[in-house]
Amino acid sequence: MWAALAVIAGLLLAGWYHLRNLYRLVQWAREPVGTPLPRASGTWDKVFADMSRRSRMAYDMRERLAVALERFRDASQAMPDGVMYLAESDTIEWVNLKAEHHFGVDHERDIGAPVTNLVRQPGFVQYLQAQKYDEALVLTSNRHSGLTLQVQIIPFGDGQKMVLSRDISQLERLETMRRDFVANVSHELRTPLTVVGGFLETLIDGLDDFERDDILRYLRLAHDQSDRMRYLIEDLLTLSALETGAPAPAEERLSVGALVRNVYTEMEALSGGRHTLSLQIEGDGMLLGSYKELHSAFANLGSNAVRYTPDGGRIEIGWRQDDSGGEFWVRDDGIGIDAQHIPRLTERFYRVDRGRSRETGGTGLGLAIVKHILTRHQAELHVVSRLGEGSRFSVRFPRARLMQQKALPVRS
Ligand code: ADP
Repeated sequence: MWAALAVIAGLLLAGWYHLRNLYRLVQWAREPVGTPLPRASGTWDKVFADMSRRSRMAYDMRERLAVALERFRDASQAMPDGVMYLAESDTIEWVNLKAEHHFGVDHERDIGAPVTNLVRQPGFVQYLQAQKYDEALVLTSNRHSGLTLQVQIIPFGDGQKMVLSRDISQLERLETMRRDFVANVSHELRTPLTVVGGFLETLIDGLDDFERDDILRYLRLAHDQSDRMRYLIEDLLTLSALETGAPAPAEERLSVGALVRNVYTEMEALSGGRHTLSLQIEGDGMLLGSYKELHSAFANLGSNAVRYTPDGGRIEIGWRQDDSGGEFWVRDDGIGIDAQHIPRLTERFYRVDRGRSRETGGTGLGLAIVKHILTRHQAELHVVSRLGEGSRFSVRFPRARLMQQKALPVRS
Protein backbone atom coordinates (compact mmCIF):
# COMPACT_ATOMS: atom_id res chain seq x y z
CA MET A 1 0.00 0.00 0.00
CA TRP A 2 2.75 2.50 1.05
CA ALA A 3 4.83 1.33 -1.82
CA ALA A 4 1.96 1.99 -4.27
CA LEU A 5 1.42 5.42 -2.80
CA ALA A 6 5.14 6.18 -3.08
CA VAL A 7 5.10 5.12 -6.77
CA ILE A 8 2.04 7.30 -7.48
CA ALA A 9 3.66 10.22 -5.65
CA GLY A 10 6.89 9.69 -7.66
CA LEU A 11 4.96 9.58 -10.92
CA LEU A 12 3.06 12.74 -9.99
CA LEU A 13 6.31 14.50 -9.07
CA ALA A 14 7.98 13.45 -12.31
CA GLY A 15 4.89 14.52 -14.29
CA TRP A 16 4.84 17.89 -12.51
CA TYR A 17 8.58 18.33 -13.20
CA HIS A 18 8.16 17.64 -16.91
CA LEU A 19 4.95 19.63 -17.25
CA ARG A 20 6.53 22.60 -15.47
CA ASN A 21 9.58 22.57 -17.73
CA LEU A 22 7.41 22.05 -20.81
CA TYR A 23 5.32 25.05 -19.73
CA ARG A 24 8.50 27.16 -19.24
CA LEU A 25 9.66 26.09 -22.71
CA VAL A 26 6.32 27.10 -24.23
CA GLN A 27 6.43 30.42 -22.36
CA TRP A 28 10.01 31.02 -23.60
CA ALA A 29 8.98 30.26 -27.18
CA ARG A 30 6.42 33.08 -26.92
CA GLU A 31 9.06 35.61 -25.82
CA PRO A 32 10.87 37.78 -28.41
CA VAL A 33 13.77 36.21 -30.31
CA GLY A 34 16.96 36.43 -28.28
CA THR A 35 15.31 36.00 -24.81
CA PRO A 36 17.61 33.74 -22.72
CA LEU A 37 16.22 30.27 -21.88
CA PRO A 38 15.25 29.52 -18.27
CA ARG A 39 17.56 27.31 -16.26
CA ALA A 40 16.50 23.74 -15.36
CA SER A 41 17.99 20.63 -13.85
CA GLY A 42 18.59 17.12 -15.20
CA THR A 43 17.61 16.21 -18.74
CA TRP A 44 15.71 19.45 -19.18
CA ASP A 45 18.84 21.46 -18.51
CA LYS A 46 20.49 19.68 -21.43
CA VAL A 47 17.37 20.21 -23.60
CA PHE A 48 17.32 23.89 -22.67
CA ALA A 49 21.05 24.25 -23.31
CA ASP A 50 20.73 22.66 -26.79
CA MET A 51 17.70 24.78 -27.59
CA SER A 52 19.51 27.86 -26.36
CA ARG A 53 22.55 27.13 -28.56
CA ARG A 54 20.39 26.54 -31.64
CA SER A 55 18.33 29.62 -30.95
CA ARG A 56 21.49 31.71 -30.56
CA MET A 57 22.85 30.35 -33.85
CA ALA A 58 19.60 31.14 -35.65
CA TYR A 59 19.56 34.60 -34.08
CA ASP A 60 23.18 35.29 -35.10
CA MET A 61 22.50 34.08 -38.61
CA ARG A 62 19.47 36.37 -38.89
CA GLU A 63 21.50 39.29 -37.57
CA ARG A 64 24.27 38.63 -40.08
CA LEU A 65 21.74 38.41 -42.91
CA ALA A 66 20.08 41.64 -41.78
CA VAL A 67 23.48 43.42 -41.68
CA ALA A 68 24.43 42.02 -45.14
CA LEU A 69 21.06 43.10 -46.57
CA GLU A 70 21.42 46.57 -45.06
CA ARG A 71 24.94 46.90 -46.46
CA PHE A 72 23.73 45.75 -49.87
CA ARG A 73 20.92 48.33 -49.80
CA ASP A 74 23.30 51.06 -48.68
CA ALA A 75 25.63 50.16 -51.58
CA SER A 76 22.73 50.19 -54.07
CA GLN A 77 21.56 53.50 -52.62
CA ALA A 78 25.03 55.01 -52.98
CA MET A 79 25.31 54.00 -56.65
CA PRO A 80 25.54 56.99 -59.00
CA ASP A 81 23.02 55.19 -61.24
CA GLY A 82 19.39 54.29 -60.67
CA VAL A 83 18.81 50.74 -59.36
CA MET A 84 15.40 49.03 -59.27
CA TYR A 85 14.78 45.38 -58.37
CA LEU A 86 11.82 43.59 -59.94
CA ALA A 87 10.26 40.39 -58.62
CA GLU A 88 9.39 37.45 -60.91
CA SER A 89 6.11 39.07 -61.96
CA ASP A 90 7.90 42.35 -62.82
CA THR A 91 6.55 44.03 -59.73
CA ILE A 92 8.76 46.54 -57.97
CA GLU A 93 10.64 45.11 -55.00
CA TRP A 94 13.07 47.90 -54.20
CA VAL A 95 14.27 51.18 -55.72
CA ASN A 96 17.09 53.55 -54.85
CA LEU A 97 16.69 57.33 -54.79
CA LYS A 98 18.18 57.83 -58.26
CA ALA A 99 15.73 55.35 -59.82
CA GLU A 100 12.85 57.06 -57.96
CA HIS A 101 13.86 60.29 -59.68
CA HIS A 102 14.51 58.71 -63.10
CA PHE A 103 11.24 56.77 -63.28
CA GLY A 104 9.04 58.85 -60.97
CA VAL A 105 8.32 55.93 -58.61
CA ASP A 106 8.01 56.07 -54.84
CA HIS A 107 9.95 53.65 -52.61
CA GLU A 108 7.00 53.28 -50.21
CA ARG A 109 3.85 53.73 -52.26
CA ASP A 110 4.88 51.74 -55.33
CA ILE A 111 6.50 48.65 -53.80
CA GLY A 112 4.63 45.60 -55.11
CA ALA A 113 3.12 47.48 -58.07
CA PRO A 114 3.75 46.19 -61.63
CA VAL A 115 6.56 48.32 -63.06
CA THR A 116 4.72 48.82 -66.37
CA ASN A 117 1.89 50.56 -64.48
CA LEU A 118 4.36 53.25 -63.52
CA VAL A 119 6.88 53.31 -66.36
CA ARG A 120 4.50 53.25 -69.29
CA GLN A 121 6.67 54.42 -72.15
CA PRO A 122 6.20 51.95 -75.04
CA GLY A 123 9.98 51.71 -75.56
CA PHE A 124 10.48 50.53 -71.97
CA VAL A 125 7.50 48.14 -71.99
CA GLN A 126 8.71 46.53 -75.23
CA TYR A 127 12.28 46.27 -73.95
CA LEU A 128 11.09 44.61 -70.74
CA GLN A 129 8.80 42.16 -72.51
CA ALA A 130 11.09 41.26 -75.43
CA GLN A 131 13.56 39.74 -72.92
CA LYS A 132 16.55 40.68 -75.10
CA TYR A 133 18.74 42.50 -72.69
CA ASP A 134 22.11 42.34 -74.51
CA GLU A 135 21.93 46.01 -75.36
CA ALA A 136 20.85 48.97 -73.30
CA LEU A 137 17.79 51.07 -74.13
CA VAL A 138 17.96 54.84 -74.60
CA LEU A 139 14.86 56.40 -73.11
CA THR A 140 13.78 60.03 -73.22
CA SER A 141 12.03 60.82 -69.98
CA ASN A 142 8.48 62.08 -70.29
CA ARG A 143 8.54 63.34 -66.71
CA HIS A 144 11.60 65.57 -66.76
CA SER A 145 12.26 67.56 -69.91
CA GLY A 146 15.80 67.22 -71.21
CA LEU A 147 16.44 64.00 -69.27
CA THR A 148 17.72 61.11 -71.38
CA LEU A 149 18.32 57.75 -69.71
CA GLN A 150 20.29 54.70 -70.67
CA VAL A 151 18.40 51.73 -69.23
CA GLN A 152 19.87 48.23 -68.87
CA ILE A 153 17.93 45.26 -67.53
CA ILE A 154 19.97 42.44 -65.94
CA PRO A 155 18.03 39.24 -65.18
CA PHE A 156 19.18 37.25 -62.11
CA GLY A 157 18.05 34.59 -59.64
CA ASP A 158 14.63 33.07 -60.19
CA GLY A 159 13.11 35.38 -62.78
CA GLN A 160 14.11 38.54 -60.90
CA LYS A 161 15.52 41.56 -62.69
CA MET A 162 17.74 44.47 -61.88
CA VAL A 163 16.96 47.66 -63.82
CA LEU A 164 19.93 50.04 -64.03
CA SER A 165 19.32 53.58 -65.28
CA ARG A 166 21.97 56.20 -66.08
CA ASP A 167 21.47 59.88 -66.86
CA ILE A 168 23.14 60.42 -70.27
CA SER A 169 21.54 63.83 -71.00
CA GLN A 170 24.92 65.58 -70.94
CA LEU A 171 26.45 63.02 -73.33
CA GLU A 172 23.47 63.36 -75.67
CA ARG A 173 23.82 67.13 -75.65
CA LEU A 174 27.52 66.84 -76.45
CA GLU A 175 26.75 64.43 -79.29
CA THR A 176 24.19 66.89 -80.72
CA MET A 177 26.72 69.71 -80.42
CA ARG A 178 29.33 67.58 -82.21
CA ARG A 179 26.90 66.82 -85.05
CA ASP A 180 25.94 70.51 -85.35
CA PHE A 181 29.59 71.48 -85.32
CA VAL A 182 30.53 69.11 -88.15
CA ALA A 183 27.51 70.32 -90.16
CA ASN A 184 28.49 73.96 -89.55
CA VAL A 185 32.14 73.49 -90.51
CA SER A 186 31.16 71.62 -93.69
CA HIS A 187 28.70 74.36 -94.58
CA GLU A 188 31.19 77.17 -93.87
CA LEU A 189 33.86 75.53 -96.05
CA ARG A 190 31.52 74.50 -98.83
CA THR A 191 30.36 78.05 -99.59
CA PRO A 192 33.79 79.57 -100.40
CA LEU A 193 34.88 76.34 -102.10
CA THR A 194 31.84 76.51 -104.38
CA VAL A 195 32.64 80.13 -105.23
CA VAL A 196 36.33 79.36 -106.00
CA GLY A 197 35.28 76.30 -108.05
CA GLY A 198 32.79 78.44 -109.98
CA PHE A 199 35.39 81.12 -110.84
CA LEU A 200 37.91 78.54 -111.98
CA GLU A 201 35.32 76.81 -114.15
CA THR A 202 34.34 80.12 -115.75
CA LEU A 203 37.99 80.91 -116.47
CA ILE A 204 38.71 77.46 -117.90
CA ASP A 205 35.65 77.60 -120.19
CA GLY A 206 36.30 81.05 -121.55
CA LEU A 207 39.88 82.06 -120.84
CA ASP A 208 40.31 83.55 -124.31
CA ASP A 209 37.07 85.56 -124.07
CA PHE A 210 38.13 87.53 -120.98
CA GLU A 211 40.16 90.69 -120.75
CA ARG A 212 43.20 90.64 -118.45
CA ASP A 213 41.37 92.92 -115.95
CA ASP A 214 38.37 90.55 -115.77
CA ILE A 215 40.67 87.65 -115.13
CA LEU A 216 42.44 89.59 -112.38
CA ARG A 217 39.09 90.48 -110.79
CA TYR A 218 38.05 86.82 -110.75
CA LEU A 219 41.38 85.76 -109.32
CA ARG A 220 41.16 88.39 -106.58
CA LEU A 221 37.65 87.23 -105.65
CA ALA A 222 38.87 83.64 -105.56
CA HIS A 223 41.79 84.77 -103.41
CA ASP A 224 39.37 86.41 -100.95
CA GLN A 225 37.49 83.16 -100.66
CA SER A 226 40.67 81.21 -100.06
CA ASP A 227 41.52 83.73 -97.31
CA ARG A 228 38.14 83.06 -95.78
CA MET A 229 38.81 79.33 -95.70
CA ARG A 230 42.25 79.96 -94.20
CA TYR A 231 40.78 82.17 -91.43
CA LEU A 232 38.21 79.54 -90.68
CA ILE A 233 40.78 76.78 -90.47
CA GLU A 234 43.08 78.91 -88.30
CA ASP A 235 40.21 79.70 -85.94
CA LEU A 236 39.18 76.04 -85.85
CA LEU A 237 42.72 74.99 -84.98
CA THR A 238 42.94 77.64 -82.24
CA LEU A 239 39.57 76.58 -80.82
CA SER A 240 40.45 72.91 -80.98
CA ALA A 241 43.77 73.52 -79.18
CA LEU A 242 41.91 75.44 -76.46
CA GLU A 243 39.13 72.88 -76.14
CA THR A 244 41.28 69.77 -76.09
CA GLY A 245 43.00 71.21 -73.06
CA ALA A 246 46.35 71.89 -74.74
CA PRO A 247 48.61 73.28 -72.03
CA ALA A 248 48.36 77.05 -71.68
CA PRO A 249 51.38 78.96 -72.98
CA ALA A 250 53.77 80.01 -70.25
CA GLU A 251 52.39 82.86 -68.20
CA GLU A 252 54.35 86.03 -68.07
CA ARG A 253 54.16 89.40 -66.37
CA LEU A 254 52.94 91.60 -69.16
CA SER A 255 52.35 95.31 -69.38
CA VAL A 256 48.63 95.78 -70.01
CA GLY A 257 49.20 99.32 -71.28
CA ALA A 258 51.53 98.07 -74.03
CA LEU A 259 49.17 95.24 -74.95
CA VAL A 260 46.13 97.53 -75.17
CA ARG A 261 48.10 100.10 -77.20
CA ASN A 262 49.11 97.37 -79.68
CA VAL A 263 45.49 96.31 -80.05
CA TYR A 264 44.53 99.96 -80.56
CA THR A 265 47.09 100.38 -83.36
CA GLU A 266 45.75 97.27 -85.09
CA MET A 267 42.22 98.62 -84.82
CA GLU A 268 43.32 101.89 -86.41
CA ALA A 269 44.77 99.96 -89.33
CA LEU A 270 41.61 97.88 -89.69
CA SER A 271 39.35 100.90 -89.55
CA GLY A 272 41.48 102.79 -92.07
CA GLY A 273 40.15 106.13 -90.86
CA ARG A 274 36.47 105.15 -91.19
CA HIS A 275 35.85 105.55 -87.44
CA THR A 276 36.81 107.87 -84.63
CA LEU A 277 38.89 105.79 -82.25
CA SER A 278 40.00 106.70 -78.75
CA LEU A 279 42.10 105.02 -76.08
CA GLN A 280 41.90 105.37 -72.28
CA ILE A 281 44.32 103.74 -69.94
CA GLU A 282 43.96 104.19 -66.16
CA GLY A 283 46.54 102.40 -64.06
CA ASP A 284 49.17 100.98 -66.36
CA GLY A 285 49.54 97.77 -64.38
CA MET A 286 51.13 94.40 -64.89
CA LEU A 287 48.98 91.40 -65.63
CA LEU A 288 49.86 87.76 -65.19
CA GLY A 289 48.90 85.80 -68.29
CA SER A 290 49.77 84.66 -71.78
CA TYR A 291 50.52 87.64 -74.03
CA LYS A 292 49.73 85.63 -77.17
CA GLU A 293 46.31 84.50 -75.91
CA LEU A 294 45.26 87.79 -74.33
CA HIS A 295 46.35 89.69 -77.41
CA SER A 296 44.18 87.37 -79.52
CA ALA A 297 41.16 87.87 -77.21
CA PHE A 298 41.47 91.68 -76.97
CA ALA A 299 42.15 92.03 -80.71
CA ASN A 300 39.05 89.95 -81.43
CA LEU A 301 36.84 92.28 -79.39
CA GLY A 302 38.50 95.29 -81.00
CA SER A 303 38.07 94.02 -84.55
CA ASN A 304 34.43 93.14 -83.86
CA ALA A 305 33.80 96.74 -82.79
CA VAL A 306 35.34 97.99 -86.05
CA ARG A 307 33.45 95.44 -88.17
CA TYR A 308 30.05 96.02 -86.56
CA THR A 309 30.23 99.82 -86.44
CA PRO A 310 29.18 101.66 -89.60
CA ASP A 311 31.54 104.23 -91.09
CA GLY A 312 31.66 107.46 -89.09
CA GLY A 313 30.99 105.68 -85.78
CA ARG A 314 32.91 106.10 -82.53
CA ILE A 315 34.89 103.36 -80.80
CA GLU A 316 36.66 103.57 -77.45
CA ILE A 317 38.93 101.01 -75.90
CA GLY A 318 40.55 101.08 -72.52
CA TRP A 319 41.90 99.53 -69.38
CA ARG A 320 41.29 100.39 -65.76
CA GLN A 321 42.10 98.71 -62.51
CA ASP A 322 41.35 99.06 -58.83
CA ASP A 323 41.54 96.95 -55.68
CA SER A 324 38.97 94.47 -56.93
CA GLY A 325 40.75 93.68 -60.21
CA GLY A 326 41.25 94.94 -63.74
CA GLU A 327 38.96 95.59 -66.70
CA PHE A 328 39.64 95.80 -70.43
CA TRP A 329 36.75 97.26 -72.40
CA VAL A 330 35.70 98.11 -75.93
CA ARG A 331 32.73 100.39 -76.53
CA ASP A 332 31.19 101.22 -79.89
CA ASP A 333 28.10 103.05 -81.13
CA GLY A 334 27.60 100.54 -83.91
CA ILE A 335 24.72 98.26 -84.88
CA GLY A 336 24.23 96.83 -81.37
CA ILE A 337 22.75 93.46 -80.47
CA ASP A 338 19.20 92.56 -79.49
CA ALA A 339 19.01 91.23 -75.89
CA GLN A 340 17.81 87.75 -76.96
CA HIS A 341 21.12 87.06 -78.77
CA ILE A 342 23.51 88.17 -76.04
CA PRO A 343 23.59 84.91 -73.99
CA ARG A 344 24.43 82.90 -77.14
CA LEU A 345 27.19 85.07 -78.65
CA THR A 346 30.03 82.86 -77.39
CA GLU A 347 28.56 79.69 -78.96
CA ARG A 348 30.55 78.39 -81.89
CA PHE A 349 29.21 79.76 -85.20
CA TYR A 350 26.51 81.83 -83.51
CA ARG A 351 26.05 85.03 -85.52
CA VAL A 352 23.29 87.58 -85.30
CA ASP A 353 23.61 88.54 -88.95
CA ARG A 354 25.36 85.85 -90.96
CA GLY A 355 25.65 88.02 -94.05
CA ARG A 356 27.31 90.95 -92.28
CA SER A 357 29.70 88.67 -90.40
CA ARG A 358 30.83 87.01 -93.67
CA GLU A 359 31.14 90.29 -95.58
CA THR A 360 33.56 91.53 -92.96
CA GLY A 361 35.61 88.32 -92.89
CA GLY A 362 34.03 86.81 -89.74
CA THR A 363 34.10 83.11 -89.01
CA GLY A 364 31.57 83.04 -86.16
CA LEU A 365 34.25 81.56 -83.91
CA GLY A 366 35.85 84.72 -82.53
CA LEU A 367 33.88 85.06 -79.29
CA ALA A 368 34.01 81.29 -78.67
CA ILE A 369 37.80 81.61 -78.74
CA VAL A 370 37.67 84.71 -76.53
CA LYS A 371 35.59 82.86 -73.95
CA HIS A 372 38.03 79.95 -73.78
CA ILE A 373 41.02 82.22 -73.42
CA LEU A 374 39.33 84.20 -70.67
CA THR A 375 38.39 81.04 -68.77
CA ARG A 376 42.07 80.06 -68.80
CA HIS A 377 42.80 83.41 -67.15
CA GLN A 378 39.90 83.24 -64.63
CA ALA A 379 38.50 86.31 -66.39
CA GLU A 380 34.88 86.98 -67.36
CA LEU A 381 33.30 88.50 -70.43
CA HIS A 382 30.44 90.98 -69.92
CA VAL A 383 28.33 92.29 -72.77
CA VAL A 384 25.98 95.26 -72.58
CA SER A 385 24.31 96.16 -75.85
CA ARG A 386 21.24 97.74 -77.38
CA LEU A 387 20.07 97.19 -80.90
CA GLY A 388 20.89 100.23 -83.02
CA GLU A 389 22.72 102.00 -80.20
CA GLY A 390 25.99 100.14 -79.79
CA SER A 391 27.76 97.67 -77.52
CA ARG A 392 30.20 97.47 -74.65
CA PHE A 393 32.27 94.30 -74.34
CA SER A 394 34.37 94.11 -71.18
CA VAL A 395 36.75 91.58 -69.71
CA ARG A 396 37.16 91.48 -65.93
CA PHE A 397 40.26 89.98 -64.36
CA PRO A 398 40.42 88.95 -60.71
CA ARG A 399 42.77 90.84 -58.45
CA ALA A 400 45.09 87.82 -58.19
CA ARG A 401 45.96 88.26 -61.90
CA LEU A 402 47.28 91.74 -61.22
CA MET A 403 49.79 90.57 -58.67
CA GLN A 404 53.41 91.19 -59.52
CA GLN A 405 55.54 88.11 -59.90
CA LYS A 406 59.10 89.29 -60.03
CA ALA A 407 60.53 85.92 -60.98
CA LEU A 408 58.73 85.88 -64.32
CA PRO A 409 60.04 87.65 -67.47
CA VAL A 410 58.45 91.04 -68.22
CA ARG A 411 57.13 91.83 -71.69
CA SER A 412 56.38 95.42 -72.58
P1 ADP B 1 32.08 86.78 -86.17
O1 ADP B 1 33.25 86.19 -86.81
O2 ADP B 1 30.80 86.48 -86.87
O3 ADP B 1 32.22 88.23 -85.86
P2 ADP B 1 32.17 86.40 -83.28
O4 ADP B 1 32.14 85.14 -82.52
O5 ADP B 1 33.33 87.30 -83.13
O6 ADP B 1 31.93 85.99 -84.79
O7 ADP B 1 30.86 87.22 -82.89
C1 ADP B 1 29.62 86.56 -82.89
C2 ADP B 1 28.50 87.51 -83.30
O8 ADP B 1 28.34 88.50 -82.30
C3 ADP B 1 28.80 88.28 -84.56
O9 ADP B 1 28.44 87.54 -85.71
C4 ADP B 1 27.91 89.50 -84.37
O10 ADP B 1 26.59 89.19 -84.77
C5 ADP B 1 27.91 89.70 -82.86
N1 ADP B 1 28.85 90.77 -82.45
C6 ADP B 1 30.06 90.62 -81.92
N2 ADP B 1 30.60 91.81 -81.60
C7 ADP B 1 29.71 92.74 -81.94
C8 ADP B 1 29.67 94.18 -81.85
N3 ADP B 1 30.66 94.90 -81.33
N4 ADP B 1 28.54 94.81 -82.27
C9 ADP B 1 27.52 94.10 -82.78
N5 ADP B 1 27.48 92.76 -82.90
C10 ADP B 1 28.57 92.09 -82.48
